[in-house]
Amino acid sequence: MNNRRRLYAPTTLALLCALAAVFTMAARPARAGWSTFLAAGALVTLDFESIPGMNNAVGHGIPSQSRLADQFGQTAGVRFSSSPGYVAVVNLGAGHAVSGVNGIGGATAGGTLTYEPGDPIEARFVRPGNPFQAATTSMVSIRGDLRPTARSPLSMFAFDVSGNPIAHVTVPEADGLTLRIEKPGIHSVRVVGNGSTAFDDFTFRATAPTLTVQAAAQIAPSILRHNGWGLDPRRSHGERGAVMVPVTITAPANEDLRVFVRATSHTAGHAHDGDRPHGWLLKSPRRELPKLIRGFRPGTLAYSTFEGGLRINSGSSGEVVLYYVAPEFSGEEVITVATEEANASQRTTATHHFSVKIPALVSLRSEPQEGVTLTGSTPEHPEVWSLEGAAAAALREAAATYRASQESDAGANGLPQLIARLAAYGYDFPLNADFDENPAGLHLPQAPEEIIVEDVSLSEGGLLDLDGRWTANQGHLGHRLGTHLDVRSRHLYVVPGPQRVRGSGPYHLVGRSAPRQRVAPPAEGYRLAVGDDRLTAPRGLAPFRDTDVRRDAEGNPVTGPEGQPLHYDAAARREMNELVKKVHFRRLELLIDALWNPAPGVRGVFATEGNHIHVQYD
Ligand SMILES: [Zn+2]
Ligand SMILES: [Zn+2]
Repeated sequence: MNNRRRLYAPTTLALLCALAAVFTMAARPARAGWSTFLAAGALVTLDFESIPGMNNAVGHGIPSQSRLADQFGQTAGVRFSSSPGYVAVVNLGAGHAVSGVNGIGGATAGGTLTYEPGDPIEARFVRPGNPFQAATTSMVSIRGDLRPTARSPLSMFAFDVSGNPIAHVTVPEADGLTLRIEKPGIHSVRVVGNGSTAFDDFTFRATAPTLTVQAAAQIAPSILRHNGWGLDPRRSHGERGAVMVPVTITAPANEDLRVFVRATSHTAGHAHDGDRPHGWLLKSPRRELPKLIRGFRPGTLAYSTFEGGLRINSGSSGEVVLYYVAPEFSGEEVITVATEEANASQRTTATHHFSVKIPALVSLRSEPQEGVTLTGSTPEHPEVWSLEGAAAAALREAAATYRASQESDAGANGLPQLIARLAAYGYDFPLNADFDENPAGLHLPQAPEEIIVEDVSLSEGGLLDLDGRWTANQGHLGHRLGTHLDVRSRHLYVVPGPQRVRGSGPYHLVGRSAPRQRVAPPAEGYRLAVGDDRLTAPRGLAPFRDTDVRRDAEGNPVTGPEGQPLHYDAAARREMNELVKKVHFRRLELLIDALWNPAPGVRGVFATEGNHIHVQYD
């Protein structure tokens, strides 16, 4: 609890700087048709068949159509050179070239074909679509031709962006040999010949700029608005605050990037879609945060896609810091940073997953508590009974107290006495569970009642949008930390339409236990369930009639002093109704006492709302 208090400091901004996790780009799956779209991480093989090959005549001039330099720069991200700015594409013929008919060889400064080590083949990696920007790869290989003449070994050297050697490989000449280097950060390779061997099938892992996104892995949801009516306003102020963390993005220098945020659907107990708002991304929180906090949106729908994404540039340092402000809803959120290529499949992306949640809530469903019944599930929110640990302990105590007090309530107006007297009249103790429809006394069990817990919090807390439409329009503003719970009472019921608050009945009852609370009905009124409609003014219900024979609890006729069967005359019905009222009233009193002060030193904060009591243990 103390941790949470610190999180929701009374200031409007709680800044968490934890960098708990680092998430870097994930390679996209390889795809066919690399010449059109190059997916980062895919293996690319150049077989040189698309360029007209010259005769395999060492020392002959290389015709211009057989010169290979930048032809694969745009598409594949690799540029070739030898002593001049190109290499030779040579028609070796089938069975000599590794694939097809073409291979490549070096070029002398004078522009003639050569396989000598003094004129090696160089390949440099660049950004596909931007051949003037350096790139790196993590794997390069090339094959020797299929007709070795066994003169001497062949070598390949790899260099980083600064030209420093980082790896090399040497193999003896053999039929279709492979020179292969696997190492991150390869910007160029130099393939050194032996005077006779031609090369073919240049293969590498598609190049990509390195993007990273670093931020905390888990943060609490923001609380940007007050609780609804009926709660202690001093506490409500303390629960207001934006939760913000820095998000550090690294990329090549001066790179144009887009950043966007998505909330993962059906997370944190929201089993509904629609336009689910997500957290905010701020470039300058000092200026933007105050505006955001003044608004009344629990999240934003801005920058949800690449197209609508926030545009940033990595600048000369290659590093940008944005500020992520958690939405009021819990759930998984994903930040994506993408390079700006127009074609989606050419973009490099990096993602970071935020888990927005109130951690370690206890689910009353997976850990049932004795004396507690759960209700309030809806298709939009099937599980609404997660509770913070201390609040769960308070509820457990309250349930035990409520049960014990119903059984041991002493005196003539104690529950056991009242129920025994009703039973002697032959009252039928109706068990109508649908107490919204027929509330007035038509649920009055003989046995002790459980505490009926309606909504508490979603499994990971956060704003519980009762309307299922991502708003706070229907209240429940406090049901996000696992400390507020609604207890349904069968002894309170809702009266549609505005009601005048009278100075007696349930209003005083609740007010007495929680004298500091404002207790007033919101849009709907509520009443104590007073009596049994069948005994007083029937509303289309079958009443007990004067001709009905009274029966006792065992179903035997109740007889008068002379053994004659007794009927439900007006006096008997009046007396029964008084008893029904008293049972309702006493049960409500005992319920409130149990919830209000469940254990020494634990105090609930209360309000009645419609047919339930809002309880707050924090
Ligand atoms: Zn929802
Ligand atoms: Zn409530």
